[in-house]
Amino acid sequence: MKDIKSLYLSELEEFITENGFPKFRARQIFDWFKKGATAFDEMRNLPKKLIDFLSGSCYISVANIEKKLVSRYDKTVKYLFCLNDGEYIESVVMSYHHGYSICVSTQVGCKMGCTFCATGKSGFSRSLTASEILAQIESAQKDLNIRISNVVLMGMGEPLDNFDNVIRFLRLVSDENGLNIGMRHITLSTCGIVPRIYDLAEYKFALTLSVSLHAPDNETRSRTMPINNRYPIEQLIKACRDYFDTTGRRVSFEYAMIDGVNDTDECAFKLAALLKGMNCHVNFIPVNAVKGTGYIKSRTERQKAFVEILSKRGVTATVRRTLGNDINASCGQLRRNTVN
Ligand code: SAH
Ligand code: SF4
Repeated sequence: MKDIKSLYLSELEEFITENGFPKFRARQIFDWFKKGATAFDEMRNLPKKLIDFLSGSCYISVANIEKKLVSRYDKTVKYLFCLNDGEYIESVVMSYHHGYSICVSTQVGCKMGCTFCATGKSGFSRSLTASEILAQIESAQKDLNIRISNVVLMGMGEPLDNFDNVIRFLRLVSDENGLNIGMRHITLSTCGIVPRIYDLAEYKFALTLSVSLHAPDNETRSRTMPINNRYPIEQLIKACRDYFDTTGRRVSFEYAMIDGVNDTDECAFKLAALLKGMNCHVNFIPVNAVKGTGYIKSRTERQKAFVEILSKRGVTATVRRTLGNDINASCGQLRRNTVN
């Protein structure tokens, strides 16, 4: 069976016409996907013959709501979605003054094994198709009756470890005939798979690349992020500098502050030196306590002192507000509680 929702409009047109149906039907089908249709017989403006053909040769990727949690504090919504094959993934919808953002998953689990991460602790099952990444947005929009304007690829999984499907997703989601969410409203987060950062730069997308740094030196970083043994920090920073040179887009760094692990003054000095002269922004976030990691978040005074050291040295940094604290909004935690 064909994964029809992963096709670009041009590919869908080709598929439809090759099988003897008029080209304009492709756009109608594409519109139904955009509205979150999950079955061909919902597509009321299609002739029966076409619906029968599609039903016999294709499937529609779905993200069915298995669980839904709404934060009492800030209206953040967290979904546990069930996919066609029964796998579970998570997405989080956040409401900001400028609109709705969704944090989507790109894989079921993750191979990267970062020690602070709930997803990393649960192992890897499989990568998502482009249509399964889209389905998360469509399902959430339909359920909440909203239009989502920003997408962050920061849910479960490592996007650059699912490169081709993620590129396809990016093109589909930004297609003006589809969900039409522009690249400028998309952020892709990576743990630092260096060769794929160079590959991504070649596409010159206007998205924001966000790199999960979490440490200023190889010794500290390798302790929490195994990928650092493969692509050490110097190579990663060079790739980020080159990414900016190629795309003109400022890179963001994520830095989860863990008490006693990466939050000393010495770490701040090293981080300032590492990022010196670079056009970038650092987002600090107190680490989310995940059961079994033993990590706790840095104290508020420590966070402030750390950011001040960086600001004084010309590195722009902010401490990010955490949303959805009461619903374990940090991805991987809900699935972990359900599946394992
Ligand atoms: N695999 C990609 C994207 C998914 S993880 C990546 O690692 O960048 C999304 C973000 O959540 C990353 O910045 C990751 O480092 C961070 N993260 C994971 N576990 C966390 C935790 N317990 N506390 C704070 N941030 C966490
Ligand atoms: Fe994977 Fe990102 Fe979690 Fe690391 S932080 S285990 S790369 S999802």
